[in-house]
Amino acid sequence: MSLQPTYGVLVPALYAFLLYGLRFALFASIAFHLSDPSRPHPRGRPHIDRPPKFQLNPNLRRELGQSTLTLLIFAAVNAILFGYGLLHSSRLYFKVTEFPTWWFWTSIPVMLALHDTLFYWLHRVMHSRLLFAKMHRQHHESVYPTAFAAYSFGWSEALAEALIVIAIIFIIPVHPLAFLIFQTLSTAYNVYGHCGREFYPESVSGHWAGRWMNTSSLHAHHHRHGRGNYSFYFTFWDRVMGTLVPTAQK
Ligand SMILES: [Zn+2]
Ligand SMILES: [Zn+2]
Repeated sequence: MSLQPTYGVLVPALYAFLLYGLRFALFASIAFHLSDPSRPHPRGRPHIDRPPKFQLNPNLRRELGQSTLTLLIFAAVNAILFGYGLLHSSRLYFKVTEFPTWWFWTSIPVMLALHDTLFYWLHRVMHSRLLFAKMHRQHHESVYPTAFAAYSFGWSEALAEALIVIAIIFIIPVHPLAFLIFQTLSTAYNVYGHCGREFYPESVSGHWAGRWMNTSSLHAHHHRHGRGNYSFYFTFWDRVMGTLVPTAQK
């Protein structure tokens, strides 16, 4: 494989930075606004928690700075993938008729399940004594995260997070549009997980299907206590591995 850039790296880097950046800025701004403590909750549910007011601004500035670094790393990974033609070795298919329509739609929940699995195990490993300080400490500087903490990683975690998402297109056949939908859902769920307000109705945690969904309250508990509730979208791996810590707010 030639390691000369095939398509140039600057244009794909710029496109990726704009796509990831604008999508994140839009979702995080909406979630930040909706989770403002002065706004009454539509179902009267209390806030999960908020940092003391004097901490909010420095906290937010740090989250914005680290998130920008993460976006630059995401853009660089995409630039290398596109620019060096590595996508040709992936299982991306560009002709929508190449696979049945049912697979196009099924591939989206399959990608969510795959990402949830890869994320859970990466997250567990990053909480090990060996790697926590090197990879994951920056993300946990947000004890009371805001929506902008969703991407506030150190450089090595940002790189690992980018690689587990990219790994998916090397594992299963995926159409780029389905991949875009998956990534958009992923960004939205990540932002929700850090926003500090629970939007699920209280009945969700008791529902036979709802109990398998990860919630913002569960991830807020992870940030406050630094252990348990390692999942992303679903509680499956936390339940199987016995790491689920239910919260008072479910
Ligand atoms: Zn963690
Ligand atoms: Zn987090």
